[in-house]
Amino acid sequence: MRTPVPEYLQGVLDECYGGDVGQVADYIPELAAADPDRLAVALATLDGPVHAAGDVALRFTIQSVSKPFVYALALRDRGLEAVVERVGVEPSGDAFNEVSLEPGTGRPRNPMINVGAIVTHSLVGDPGLGEDERVAAVVDGLSAFAGRPLEVDEAVYVSELDTAHRNLALAHMVRSHGVVQADPVELVRGYTRQCAVLVDVRDLAVMAATLANGGVNPVTGVSVVPAWVARQVLSVMATCGMYDAAGDWFTSIGIPAKSGVSGAIIGALPGEVGIGVLSPRLDHFGNSVRGVRICERLSRDMGLHLMASPASGANVIRYFDADGDSIELALQGGLHYATAEHVLNVMSRVEPDDRPLTLDLSRVTVVNDVADRMLREGIRRLGLDGHDVTLVAPEHLARRQL
Ligand code: GLU
Repeated sequence: MRTPVPEYLQGVLDECYGGDVGQVADYIPELAAADPDRLAVALATLDGPVHAAGDVALRFTIQSVSKPFVYALALRDRGLEAVVERVGVEPSGDAFNEVSLEPGTGRPRNPMINVGAIVTHSLVGDPGLGEDERVAAVVDGLSAFAGRPLEVDEAVYVSELDTAHRNLALAHMVRSHGVVQADPVELVRGYTRQCAVLVDVRDLAVMAATLANGGVNPVTGVSVVPAWVARQVLSVMATCGMYDAAGDWFTSIGIPAKSGVSGAIIGALPGEVGIGVLSPRLDHFGNSVRGVRICERLSRDMGLHLMASPASGANVIRYFDADGDSIELALQGGLHYATAEHVLNVMSRVEPDDRPLTLDLSRVTVVNDVADRMLREGIRRLGLDGHDVTLVAPEHLARRQL
C-alpha cells in the first residue's frame, strides 16, 4: 500500500494556494529575489517517516526559525539558570526587531525576538569559543536537529550583514547592559550566519519533530537535547513564536510554532508531529500568509490543537476479569498520570481476598515517572489486601523494576 498522506498534503497545498496577498521580505536584499509563489509542506512523524508535497527540493534560509533551536542549544550547553538570567520567557507583544528589554535588567524579553536571539547565539558552546567556533557549534547543532549537514548561504549572509544596522544596535544595547560580554559586531555576524543556514521543508519538519519527540531526532535516533530542554523551547514557542500574532495563532491553531521572514513556519506538536512549511508572501506581522493558512488547515483536519481534550484514559484497560478464581488485569498503550489514575480506580474495585492477580503490561508502550510510582503503589496495596500479584512486563518495562 502507498500511504495517502502525500496526496492529502498536495490537496491542502492546492486549496491554500489562492490569492496573491502578502509581500516577500525585502529588507534583506537577497530575500527580495525569492519567488513569492513557491510553496511546500512537510510532516515528520515521530516514528520516522517524513511526508512532503510541493517545492520539496527548494532550499531557503532558515532565518528566525533558527531561534528556537539555538535557544535549545544554549539551554543544553549552559543550563536553564544561566540562560534565563540573560533572556526572559515573556511574550513581548512587539515586532521581531523591537528593542524589547526588561526595564532595569536590560534582559531581552524572550529568545524569539532578535535581541533575545542575539544573546542566545552568544550562549552556544563553551564560553571561551571564538566567533567562527561558535558559528560552527551552531551549524553543527542545527544539523543534528535536521539529521544532515547544513551549510550557510554566504550570499544571503553578506546581503543581510550589509543592512544589519538595527541588529547591530540591539547587540550594542545588550552589551551596554552587560547581558553579553562578547563584541557586539562579532555577535551580529554570528547571528546573521545562523539565520542564513540553508534548509528545505523536510529539514524543518524533522527539526520540529525532534522538539516534539523530547529532543530525540526521530529519523537518526540521536538525542540532540535533553527532554527538559525540548519542553522549555516548546513552551516559549507556544507563547512567543509567532511575532506579535502569537495569541491569535495559538488560540486558532494551537501548535507551538516559529516563523521566519523567508516565509518558513515550523510547528511542533509534542508527542505527535513536526511540521515545516514554506511560502514567501508575508502578512504585516511577518508571518507567511499561505503558511498560516496551511497550518490552520492541518490543525483542523488532523485535530492537532494542543488544548483540545486528549483521549480518555479508559482506553488503557485492555481487559479486566475479576469473576473467576484468579484476577486478570491487562493494560495497553501509554501510562501517564491520567491513565494510571484510571488503572488505580479499576484496582480499587478489586475485593480484598487471596485470589492471585496477574497484571499484564505486555501491550504497554511507555510509562512515565508518575505512572510508574502510581502503579507500584497499586501493586503494593493489592499485596496488602491479600493478592499474590504476578507482573507480566516486556523487557523495556521490566528494566524499570516495576
Ligand atoms: N535574520 C533576520 C533578522 O534578524 C531574521 C528575522 C526573522 O526571520 O524574523 O532580521
